[in-house]
Amino acid sequence: MSSQFSWAILQSGQLPLQPDGSVRTELEHRCTTTLIWPAGAPPQANNTLMIDPCFTSAGYLQAVQTLDQLGASIEDIGAVFVTHLHADHLLRLPESVPSPRFRPFRTVARGEVFAAIGAEASPGHHPSQETLHFEDTEGKRVWVAGDAVLGAAWLREWAYFWPNGYGPLQIVETWRSIARIVSQADVIVPGHDAPLPVTVELVQHLLETFPQANYASRCPDVPATLQTRLDHLRSGRAPRDAHRPGG
Ligand SMILES: [Zn+2]
Repeated sequence: MSSQFSWAILQSGQLPLQPDGSVRTELEHRCTTTLIWPAGAPPQANNTLMIDPCFTSAGYLQAVQTLDQLGASIEDIGAVFVTHLHADHLLRLPESVPSPRFRPFRTVARGEVFAAIGAEASPGHHPSQETLHFEDTEGKRVWVAGDAVLGAAWLREWAYFWPNGYGPLQIVETWRSIARIVSQADVIVPGHDAPLPVTVELVQHLLETFPQANYASRCPDVPATLQTRLDHLRSGRAPRDAHRPGG
């Protein structure tokens, strides 16, 4: 069984609220929905995993189009995983769609198809928040972060979703989760934005701006982790050389 996976964005994530407090009314509030299946195989019911299956009507149309291009349909999706227990990530299909019988990721025989997909707690935004990660067909480590990383602008500004009323502990947890994801990922799939490559420029920017983040002084481990990743990126070392699963 392949240890690499193909992947596609079924629904592009969006968030009207911006880190500066402005609201882009042309955007929908919808999560990023990701489909994963083993490299070299067509997506079928026995080998597909869909992450954060909460569709808006427009987002579902986009998903149908993408599935069509892959030669698949919603009925071909076997397993689902929800990154965290917020309503905008839980399973939701348009009423006109007969509900396919998805199986929860946790209960499928992971050893057969999904053994090489890792899961890691990334709390802060929600205590249940988990990130799934896998190697794609280009050898890149992809981390599907849910709302541990809302989007590029939120990440770059060390902003968090303040309408949820987070306190210092959750905010510090959020920074630690971000540092962990940035330190391991080649590509981050945010909860409400397009996939984001982890580059020298991005990590350098995060390091330079972290002192302005709320409660930054309470977690000096965050810039230390980012500095290590920056050193690895500059030297061309893959993060997994420095930290193997289970290590
Ligand atoms: Zn969300």
